[in-house]
Amino acid sequence: MTRTLPLADPGAISEAARLLRAGGLVAFPTETVYGLGAIATDETAVAGIFEAKGRPRFNPLIVHLPERARVDEIAEITPDAARLADAFWPGPLTLVLPRKAGADLSLLASAGLPTIAVRVPAHEGARALLEAVDAPVAAPSANASGRLSPSTAAHVAASLRDRVDLILDGGPCAVGLESAIVDASGARPALLRPGGVAAEEIEAALGRPLLRADESGADAGSPKAPGMLASHYAPGLPIRLDARAPRPGEAFLAFGADAPAAAAANLSPTGDLREAAATLFALLHELDDPTRYAGIAAAQIPEVGLGRAINDRLRRAAAPRG
Ligand code: AMP
Ligand code: MG
Repeated sequence: MTRTLPLADPGAISEAARLLRAGGLVAFPTETVYGLGAIATDETAVAGIFEAKGRPRFNPLIVHLPERARVDEIAEITPDAARLADAFWPGPLTLVLPRKAGADLSLLASAGLPTIAVRVPAHEGARALLEAVDAPVAAPSANASGRLSPSTAAHVAASLRDRVDLILDGGPCAVGLESAIVDASGARPALLRPGGVAAEEIEAALGRPLLRADESGADAGSPKAPGMLASHYAPGLPIRLDARAPRPGEAFLAFGADAPAAAAANLSPTGDLREAAATLFALLHELDDPTRYAGIAAAQIPEVGLGRAINDRLRRAAAPRG
């Protein structure tokens, strides 16, 4: 049985914050839907989100902060973003912004992208929790992959069962619909997902029309619709999958104990998939160095649990580029 605490219980928020700071998973209410939170400064904690949801791929997550002033510790607030933050934060609007160089923020949280999705929720309990954690919290909807977004604590318990350390029960969510997502990282703001704030209201605050996902297709520099985000981060070097040993010039990305001595890096020497997910993006970035290597050869990763998401990422990185 999953532990559930009423949000209003004395000590509930400090207990939830303690669990998050220790790398645990806590489901909490926001005004949109219940989120499955992990501290966003810890790669292993963020990997736990994907494990608990059973997602077959790493999609970038929304990072939550208690107030706008905290956002510029991790992201660049562009002029468009400032306008939208003034108009809709705290509230059901997520902004995709350039990640700040050197920000203390998991690479997995943004799936290796140079941008990060950020939101300041309006829900008082969510903000009190975020204040208490005193660090950014990554949180997708608190449901198993492929299931409906949860708007009550009972939905979360039914979907995630014992895969979450604590559920904070704040009653039904007021909006009950996901946040709207606007990519404000580029020259022209784009609506990536319709949601809790209407597109017309966003356009009124911006003073100009949003690029809609269906218009952005051919324009290489423009953002993609959420479903197309898959192109994500791809290393510049060619990737060879299911390798047993490096060929001359290749960096070998090993997994598990029986790695060849010549391995350049190991995703997890103990064969732990959560550790492998947590180190994947950092190691790909590190090995993607044409001054040292001609290519990257990746060991075989078991196609179970988080291994499926790791393999999905590696396969995309290895696919011929268009
Ligand atoms: P969820 O957390 O379940 O509400 O879904 C978050 C969604 O936000 C992802 O599936 C993406 O579509 C979108 N998203 C998050 N981060 C980014 C980003 N850096 N760039 C573009 N879209 C993003
Ligand atoms: Mg979701």
